[in-house]
Amino acid sequence: MIGSQPRTGFDPPQVGASATRPLPLLALSSARLAAACGIFTDIDDTLTRDGAIEPAALAALQALHREAIPVIAITGRPMGWSVPFAAAWPVAAIVAENGAVAMFRDGAALRTEYAQDEATRLRNAARLRAVAATVLREVPGATLAQDSAGRVTDIAIDHSEFARLDEAAITRVVAVMQREGLHATVSSIHINGWYGEHDKLSAARWMLQRLFGRVLEAELDRWVYVGDSTNDQAMFGHFPLSVGVANLRRFAGQLHTWPAYLTTGERGEGFAEVARALISAHATR
Ligand SMILES: [Mg+2]
Repeated sequence: MIGSQPRTGFDPPQVGASATRPLPLLALSSARLAAACGIFTDIDDTLTRDGAIEPAALAALQALHREAIPVIAITGRPMGWSVPFAAAWPVAAIVAENGAVAMFRDGAALRTEYAQDEATRLRNAARLRAVAATVLREVPGATLAQDSAGRVTDIAIDHSEFARLDEAAITRVVAVMQREGLHATVSSIHINGWYGEHDKLSAARWMLQRLFGRVLEAELDRWVYVGDSTNDQAMFGHFPLSVGVANLRRFAGQLHTWPAYLTTGERGEGFAEVARALISAHATR
């Protein structure tokens, strides 16, 4: 059965997880950063504020691009939402819908590839629509995310973007999704549900293989991961060089897995701190 092992942002700790509080980013040694190949990053509230990229984050992406340090962004946002940013931002790729669909430049064109074949996506689309209707019926106040039209492989319920759901309602949405066999995660703004085994980690493996022909596990300690929310915890636990932007602290009560390091600045300012540290470490190698 597809989606038989639901996961959520509230899951038990992953292998390598750190229950301890993170160190300040300044404590990350320049030698370890000098050996790093690039950055995997979340988008919402890591690069952006209220859905728009922060100037500091955009400048940081440009500076990393000038230094030929690749950035791969992985988000729960839909493909439709991500396409213009995949074309405009100087990133190696954006993987949308929690690992389901990747967009990257191929010469002048923007290439789109999927983790699932077309027949699987069509079959799942009908099932997802039915689950979305069930969630809306069973959880009072639940509404679809406003970016739902651009989604091709998942459904999203808004809890903090334009609508407000409390913790109890968020938990009920997750429970309904899991009962229906979906994987479910809670980002800083949405509750996402989908059929399939893909997630942010499989997205990182996929892109490293697809873009560079390399295996992530062979160089896990050479990639930085930056995120801000409960749905980044599996990545925090998996990457030794994991960094939270400072606004991650607002999820302190729900986190089981902290990143190894925490920035001083929030959102795009925090991402820019990571970029500056990486670029300056590379300059010394
Ligand atoms: Mg986020």
